[in-house]
Amino acid sequence: MLKKPIQLTENVFLIDGYDLGMTERTGAYVLMEEEITLIETSASPSVPYILSGLKSLGIAPEEIKYVIVTHIHLDHSGGAGLLLEHCPKAKVVVHKKGARHLANPSRLIASAKAVYGEKFNSLFDPILPIPEDRLLIKNDQETLQIGENCLLSFYDSPGHANHHFSIYHPNVAGIFTGDTAGIYYPQLKRQGIEFYIPTTSPNQFDPEKMLQSINIFKSLNAQRLFFGHFGMSDNPSETYKQVEAWLPVFISVAQRAFEEAVDFETRTRLASERLFQKLKEDLLEKGVKEEDPIFEILALDLEISSMGLIDYLTKQIS
Ligand SMILES: [Zn+2]
Repeated sequence: MLKKPIQLTENVFLIDGYDLGMTERTGAYVLMEEEITLIETSASPSVPYILSGLKSLGIAPEEIKYVIVTHIHLDHSGGAGLLLEHCPKAKVVVHKKGARHLANPSRLIASAKAVYGEKFNSLFDPILPIPEDRLLIKNDQETLQIGENCLLSFYDSPGHANHHFSIYHPNVAGIFTGDTAGIYYPQLKRQGIEFYIPTTSPNQFDPEKMLQSINIFKSLNAQRLFFGHFGMSDNPSETYKQVEAWLPVFISVAQRAFEEAVDFETRTRLASERLFQKLKEDLLEKGVKEEDPIFEILALDLEISSMGLIDYLTKQIS
């Protein structure tokens, strides 16, 4: 049984995209304003879930005016082209550095194939180009009116990716942070554990920029963060604190793995295994059970994050 969309605030809903067939990994936020707006689409296999979620909210796809993507990694915007085929009136709102890759996704496809190999088709296919006249670029601090009393603001937020922006929603005092402020695990929150870690995927991870972007978030005084992965936290200061604390740990673990091995695969594997051990110990200490499914999810997230860490360190010396 599919879950109904989750109501997060009076006018903000979250539809689970069942990325990788798993719940609570990626989703699409629905902003129920005069101009109905989605934030993130997840990858193409998630589009049927989004359409069915919209239906259960009583929204016809023709009513969607904007589909905003925080960045163009496929788990955030890979489904945008396919979704647009169902939403004839929608425009896709994107960072200027990401726009051309949505119009011509050949490089996105090639780099995803390089990372995901044989799994590419089941995870991402199809990645459809978006006609340029349906793309709307938003620069730093530009705005978008989606209702008489609802003006969204866009903020460049590099760190996870250079082509990343985040969206401030004044009516809920919230920021849609994409992947800049880390990953949130609502599964753990239900056990009483608040847990946030940075997401450092390849190939534009930059820790300095990530911290600077978090500083911008702090200056906005948000009361809520809406994560790319997954859901809403009403405790931004705890998020910033944890992500800022884990970031140097991630770097130093990766640095050691980098020094101990010579090839990308071994370095990545070492970093990923050791980070996993550290995080696991931390969570076991907090009372999570050894057999909790969260560990499978964490291992997956850390595998991708470790690739980005080693990629970053490789670029530092070259
Ligand atoms: Zn992501």
